[in-house]
Amino acid sequence: MKGNIVIIGGGIAGMEAAKSLISLGYSPIVVESSTKLGGHVASWYKLFPDMSSAKNLVSRLESEIKGATVLCGTKVISLNRLADGYSLKLSNGSVVNASALLIATGFTLFDAKKKEEYGYGVYDRVITNSDLEAWFSEKKDARVPDEPESVGFVHCVGSRDLKACNAQCSKVCCATAIKQAIEIKERFPYAKVYCFYMDLRLFGKKYEDFYINAQRDYGVQFIRGRVSEVGETLDGRLQIKAEDTLSGKPLKVQLDLLVLMSGIVRNQSIGELSAMAGLETDSDGFLRSIDNEYAVIESNRPGIFYAGACTGPKTVPETVAEARSAALAIHSYLETL
Ligand code: SF4
Repeated sequence: MKGNIVIIGGGIAGMEAAKSLISLGYSPIVVESSTKLGGHVASWYKLFPDMSSAKNLVSRLESEIKGATVLCGTKVISLNRLADGYSLKLSNGSVVNASALLIATGFTLFDAKKKEEYGYGVYDRVITNSDLEAWFSEKKDARVPDEPESVGFVHCVGSRDLKACNAQCSKVCCATAIKQAIEIKERFPYAKVYCFYMDLRLFGKKYEDFYINAQRDYGVQFIRGRVSEVGETLDGRLQIKAEDTLSGKPLKVQLDLLVLMSGIVRNQSIGELSAMAGLETDSDGFLRSIDNEYAVIESNRPGIFYAGACTGPKTVPETVAEARSAALAIHSYLETL
């Protein structure tokens, strides 16, 4: 069994780790619960800050993991500790033994319906960040008007919000809002575009340039304040109430489309896996690394490693770096057996 590696999750983290392990001479098994590889990135249109194609990234990784066994539409039903590794029972009826496991189960987007004040699922013209990405790709969503005159983005939906049981920042949604605001302006240059934010958290390389460009080159307006209420006018537009906390004045704005930046919450499978394998979780529900400074990819169980958003919100570059690092850590671990 030495050398058998199972990767649970076939998103960017799982695929990048599989690619690295193949280059080290292994033939990992990738177990993905959905019917296709790529996770959330597969349904995204472009990635910030370079506006590169998300689908191209997924396609390239798919072509680079031909040496792996990929089991899509397959879940882990049970996971038991052996003397020299783990035994996994899968939903396809098979049992796989592995010396090492990589958990790369990613994240779930916050269910925007839980923030009732924004009217998602009530008003047709309220959509989420992920709905808008699908529209960018497919151009099929009757909720997106043909010629919007004004579009708003609400940051921090389900993040930094104790009422939503998620006090943490989701890290990627400020940059995603700016990316999507620019993409809206590119399609509808005449539209007024507003971003309603609490703070702007733009920590990555080129992110600040991205923000400056959105204002200078595209005329996106940033309003510091929370949207408190969304309603519908008689002619089917949206009317939102907010407070501009910089000027201290209340605002009423009419919009043709409101986009909610749903935050990152833990994937439901984390609860199941942590119970099966005795993995520790943090107060935010994500998996707990043994050390948040220098051992983020290591779990409290021997031979089980982490990569990507199973331990908390991550950008794509962070996810890729962790996946490569986890592959090397697994290689080193197997050398010790
Ligand atoms: S990245 Fe921005 S939008 Fe997302 S939770 Fe953090 S502050 Fe809010």
